[in-house]
Amino acid sequence: MNNEIVSLYGNFNKDGLALFTNKLICFINKHEKIFSKFVFKDTLNAIRKFDAADFYLGTSEDNLEVVISHYSRQMKNATEERICYNVVHLIWDIAGFMTQKVCPSCQDENLKIASSIDKTKIYKTCDNCLITLLGNIFIDRPTEMIPANKEQVDKVVQ
Ligand SMILES: [Zn+2]
Repeated sequence: MNNEIVSLYGNFNKDGLALFTNKLICFINKHEKIFSKFVFKDTLNAIRKFDAADFYLGTSEDNLEVVISHYSRQMKNATEERICYNVVHLIWDIAGFMTQKVCPSCQDENLKIASSIDKTKIYKTCDNCLITLLGNIFIDRPTEMIPANKEQVDKVVQ
């Protein structure tokens, strides 16, 4: 598992963002039994069905090239648990749509658009201070959230 993820991360530039994201999803599906030990069942099932084409990719300001090369070094000797968290986290980094709106609470990062697992609710959330808004109301951060797809983002971002 370690060598496989190191090699996948190592090919990031060559593959392009959409292909890379779909390879991450394939990786999760291939190791579904291991992921199921560490990732909430509903979140995992939702992510397993993702297709990169349904999401706006790479909208966050993170320098993905630097971030992924850093992760790649960490994955060499990482535990299964660490690999699973890292892959899911990376999907969030890539597919989570970042708005132009600065977080009203910490004012340190822009808000991202997230979705409930069943896709009925669309949230705005801050990865830095973790505040979450449903409409204009502050709510407790849901335990499980997935990146909002293009259709959901288009609904809330003009
Ligand atoms: Zn914040």
